[in-house]
Amino acid sequence: MYPPRAEVEIDLSAISHNVAVLADAASRSGAATMAVVKADGYGHGAVPVARAAVRGGATWLGVCSVEEALELRESGISTPVLSWLNSMDADFARALRAGVDLSVSSAAELGRIVEAAARTGIRARVHLKCDTGLCRNGCPEAEWPALVKAAAAAHEVEVVAVWSHFACADEPGHPSIGAQEARFDAAYQQARRAGLAPWRHLANSAATLTRPGSHFDLVRPGIAIYGLNPVPTGDDLRPAMTFRSHVVLVKRLAAGESVSYGHTWTAPRDTTVALVPAGYGDGVPRSLSGRMSVWLDGARRPVVGRVCMDQIVVECGDWEPSLGAEVVLFGQGDVGEPTAREWADRLDTIDYEIVTGMFRPRVRRRYV
Ligand code: PLP
Repeated sequence: MYPPRAEVEIDLSAISHNVAVLADAASRSGAATMAVVKADGYGHGAVPVARAAVRGGATWLGVCSVEEALELRESGISTPVLSWLNSMDADFARALRAGVDLSVSSAAELGRIVEAAARTGIRARVHLKCDTGLCRNGCPEAEWPALVKAAAAAHEVEVVAVWSHFACADEPGHPSIGAQEARFDAAYQQARRAGLAPWRHLANSAATLTRPGSHFDLVRPGIAIYGLNPVPTGDDLRPAMTFRSHVVLVKRLAAGESVSYGHTWTAPRDTTVALVPAGYGDGVPRSLSGRMSVWLDGARRPVVGRVCMDQIVVECGDWEPSLGAEVVLFGQGDVGEPTAREWADRLDTIDYEIVTGMFRPRVRRRYV
């Protein structure tokens, strides 16, 4: 039995383990843990990841959109879930019927939720989001008092929490971290003065691991639950995703023969190459051409010539791989194979983008 042409293997026990590590850190501050499973679980599959996260101790789930929240509910997951980036066509009535908590960043958004609550007769559970310096989603400081007042006065909503998001938590010691915490406290105090007694949540993965003072009632780790640590804390996190393929053709090249489109690589000596059926159509970035290697038979071997849509060519020297031999494109890194972080560094991006980009119909996902 040969493996599929290109496959992403997700180790769900690694996800449960990572969540347990994060939930342990949170619980030492008395905080609960929300596992962030937006963008299809950062490319790992939202529903299986959510289940594994709950097994590891998450008691909340965080998603970007109402559609993502409904996907969890429709698969039978009843864990509290917060949806935070509501598009203009978000179906709030369906969200309320499904018991989804909603984030609110503006009076207009509150109005749309109040209207859906009145229409369905279901009191909306809302988390008021204040912009404490990320300057993205969230209510600006100047509009916050009015938003708090309106939410406190609306019988159609229950204010569950005040929350915000860090800009630079992955750079411990960055001055914006303390500044955001101070603004967050001021926003919370305003809610208290309006007669509300909301929860507070602020911490992403980096703050969960490095900043216990920001844990409050709930932490919201994302990337760390997938085993990718945004700060070098030394915590025992295990990358959950392995991207693999296998050898489908082996051939001998004579010195001077050139490989793949554009003939960018020429064999400096007689050598053996292996064809691997995974290309940029499967998530291997073409811009890694000439600067990537794979793990094949216990060693790193260079990918030569350009990455094509469906295939790459691996140089093996005088060693001849067998047909069907496993090729790891990236994995946990514990035996020396490339990692998603290594790809990200080469591509001048972050590992978040690498793993999230692995959600592709052509690449089979397998859960272990
Ligand atoms: N909270 C919010 C609002 C987010 O948008 C994200 C991710 O971008 C997270 C938490 C999780 O962040 P991280 O993946 O860095 O832990």
